[in-house]
Amino acid sequence: MLYNGSCHCGHVTFQVEGTISGAMSCNCSLCQRKGALMWFVPREQLQLLTPDENAGTYTFNKHVIKHRFCAKCGVHPYGEGVDAKGNAMAAINIRCLEDIELEKIPVTHYDGRAR
Ligand SMILES: [Zn+2]
Repeated sequence: MLYNGSCHCGHVTFQVEGTISGAMSCNCSLCQRKGALMWFVPREQLQLLTPDENAGTYTFNKHVIKHRFCAKCGVHPYGEGVDAKGNAMAAINIRCLEDIELEKIPVTHYDGRAR
């Protein structure tokens, strides 16, 4: 399935291919504040429709995940990083996707605060 996603103002828009079997809610200091529901896909399944530099980059803690946000409206649509095997991954904030029924997607709670 191909999903369309964006920040609030449209300065950052993208498409992502895949099947959403679930999403992760993380309680780390950043995710708790954002309220993001993350869905992890190989980075190549995320295609930006706007220039990469339209999204700002925020890092913290070990600086291994690039948290990307719209520099205009402040929404955080996705993040970028690598998995344990070194594969490039994207974490899509499914709250930024169109045409999904959020309440039907199972959410796993991740104790990011403890890491
Ligand atoms: Zn925006």
